[in-house]
Amino acid sequence: MAHVTIKEILTDARKRQYAIPTLAGINLEAIIGIVKAAEEKKSPLILCYNQQLTPQIPIEISMPVMVSIAKSAKIPIATILDHGSDFSLIMRSIHSGSSSVMFDGSGLPFDENVARTKEVVKVAHALGVSVEAELGGVGGSAVEAVETAATESVFTDPEQAKKFVELTDVDCLAISFGNVHGKYKGTPNLDHERVKKIFSIIEVPLGMHGASGLTEYDYKSVIKCGISKLNYFSSMCRGTYPMLKNLVENSGEDVFCLNLISMSIDFWYRETKQLLDICMCSKKAQGDSGDNFIKNLSEIISDAIKKQI
Ligand SMILES: [Zn+2]
Repeated sequence: MAHVTIKEILTDARKRQYAIPTLAGINLEAIIGIVKAAEEKKSPLILCYNQQLTPQIPIEISMPVMVSIAKSAKIPIATILDHGSDFSLIMRSIHSGSSSVMFDGSGLPFDENVARTKEVVKVAHALGVSVEAELGGVGGSAVEAVETAATESVFTDPEQAKKFVELTDVDCLAISFGNVHGKYKGTPNLDHERVKKIFSIIEVPLGMHGASGLTEYDYKSVIKCGISKLNYFSSMCRGTYPMLKNLVENSGEDVFCLNLISMSIDFWYRETKQLLDICMCSKKAQGDSGDNFIKNLSEIISDAIKKQI
């Protein structure tokens, strides 16, 4: 059951008002730590590839790793290309096995965004792949250390959102309501009424990008207003500094890369566990869960070692 589309898992999230985090599988340690946490919490999960975050790692290498791990996990995991803005990257993602893709035409005029999203949906749906699109514009950057004010975003217009979904047949819509990628300038001021309004007039699940740096109250209230998919990266990523500082302080100049690997896995595991509780998606995985992912992984590693010997 494990590798699914975003449509399959987000439909339940929308109905039961919880959110599924979308986390970037930036390296193997992150993927393993994230999936281990989700299995333990019996939670559905979305793993994404974002070319801006890891331009050094081609999608042809990264995506099959995520797909393979998703298939061996006992929780439902969707894989998605995050912020695909050109057709060729979207096709490369589908060829690499992703169950879902995001086409981000939010910087285009409305009609052009509709036309290009429609094109992607036509091809993706024919291949059983789900599509997320974006309307309005979420400002900021997940990779640069800049602070962004919500006023730099273009808020999603509810009536346009309704029309956009009807015209394109997308499976999930990322909206803008005061959220920004990366660091918020000042206190985040989210337009909850806008989320509620959009939720009430369109039927597909809503996505929120730029979910770092909010309070637990903020997360829970946006989820209650209708957000089902939560893209989270910057806060978690910046949290690696204390981990590295600790390692250096405890190891002196004798930092061993293998310690870094196990520490990294543990870091992503702990952070993800907390996030899953905040998103209220723990225990929401359909079917039974457990430690199968880790058992399978141990078996795979043991087999590989036996072959080497
Ligand atoms: Zn985003």
